[in-house]
Amino acid sequence: MEHSLVLVADPSALMRQLVTRCIEQLGMRAVAVATGREAMAAAEEKLPDAILISWELPEVPGPDLLRHWQTDPELRWVPVIMLTSHTEPGRIEEAMGLGAHDFLNKPFEAAEFNARLRAALRVRDLQQQLRELADRDALTHLANRRVFEDRLDRELLRSTRYGGATSLAVLDIDYFKRVNDEHGHDAGDAVLVQFAELMTKELREVDLVARYGGEEFVVILPDTDLADATIVLDRLRTGVSQHTFVTPNGALHVTVSVGVAATIGTCTDRATLFKTADTALYQAKESGRNRVVMASDGEKVVMAGQEDVPERCSNPGRTSGS
Ligand code: GH3
Ligand code: MG
Ligand code: MG
Repeated sequence: MEHSLVLVADPSALMRQLVTRCIEQLGMRAVAVATGREAMAAAEEKLPDAILISWELPEVPGPDLLRHWQTDPELRWVPVIMLTSHTEPGRIEEAMGLGAHDFLNKPFEAAEFNARLRAALRVRDLQQQLRELADRDALTHLANRRVFEDRLDRELLRSTRYGGATSLAVLDIDYFKRVNDEHGHDAGDAVLVQFAELMTKELREVDLVARYGGEEFVVILPDTDLADATIVLDRLRTGVSQHTFVTPNGALHVTVSVGVAATIGTCTDRATLFKTADTALYQAKESGRNRVVMASDGEKVVMAGQEDVPERCSNPGRTSGS
């Protein structure tokens, strides 16, 4: 809570000063702005842990800010305390109805301010813990399948609207059942955790790495075409094959097979792109494992490292052998 960032929006310089001092005395950081428009911009840029806004604000009034933030996937979770000089129950009811977390009547005592701000931040803390539980895979701490599907939908929408390629890779650890059979389930778990770490290290922050299920993982590479995605994934594949996995039952090595597909605004359907990448993964398994296969171009399956690179993925089900 000490390092929390609190956004304050109030037209009065005196009030901004007062609130800022209260926040700083709690050991937290404050960003203070005078208008609704500035509050909107600052909230988006800084993603504060709590927001205090007055009902009346130039340009964008408080209730409009509440409505706006309710539509934002991140800001809707940030508790907003309304600073109001109006004690009419109607207004309080309206603000809470629009998503405000709490209200505070001006002028206020420092003790009440502190208590309400702390309560708001406790809620924020709990929400973040719950979201973490809902969005992350418990073993590897990677994003889970639900987060992956939401993100892929968004990327495909973006890609069809603004152009630009989106690549998708499906990865499956080779002969993973053997790891469990020969080294035990704990060793299997340790391999999955280290595999996830290797992926996170090798890929960019803008890429979404997720555990799809079991020993199957997926990566969304925004603004990356098929050829570039394949290079990245092949580097990861090499890294995995050279990595010594340390487990409670000794060190071991594994390899991974990868299928990659891409779209340049031509594929709007998540399932189609996924199936294309999954078909390529199947080809990778069939042709010997420990390799990256790009989605096929008609009848021809293109292997990583080969010269002939198709410009985009084709429809699934047209790969040879499928
Ligand atoms: P292939 O090369 O064809 O992918 O063979 P495979 O053995 O990897 O494939 P298969 O799908 O037969 O086996 C997957 C194994 O992964 C079976 C399952 O017990 C194991 N597994 C799935 N989830 C977990 C997990 O969370 N922890 C551990 N230790 N094992 C898991
Ligand atoms: Mg599998
Ligand atoms: Mg496998």
